[in-house]
Amino acid sequence: MLEITSLKNGIVIDHVKPGNGIKIFELLGLADLDDQVALILNAESSNMGRKDIIKVENHQDLDLDIVSIIDPTATVNIIENEEVVEKKVLELPEVIENILTCQNPKCISTSERSVTSKFILINPEETKYKCAYCDHIYDVEE
Ligand SMILES: [Zn+2]
Repeated sequence: MLEITSLKNGIVIDHVKPGNGIKIFELLGLADLDDQVALILNAESSNMGRKDIIKVENHQDLDLDIVSIIDPTATVNIIENEEVVEKKVLELPEVIENILTCQNPKCISTSERSVTSKFILINPEETKYKCAYCDHIYDVEE
């Protein structure tokens, strides 16, 4: 197993489906952090074939709602002194506000700047959310 960076303190988002790592990275705004961030794409995984991994130094309070929306089967470990001290269980939020952008270009939440986006969980098994304004089903793959 290739260890690109080992964390002393921070958070590791592991077992991310290939392709979802970059989405989580972007939605969490990790490019704006000053701390060490590793985005590992297509790492070898014994049970997934390939996976993405995100490691963030010095942060343990990332918005895990974002992670669960994009990839509910990802695993999240909190690291202190190079050891896993906590495994977070991802739960889908019932309502997501101001994180996702509605993909319907005619939606009021994309055309009116004063309207913040809002999505409502309609199917937890399939991680399906619909826009509260226009009923558009959010497509994570898009
Ligand atoms: Zn909408």
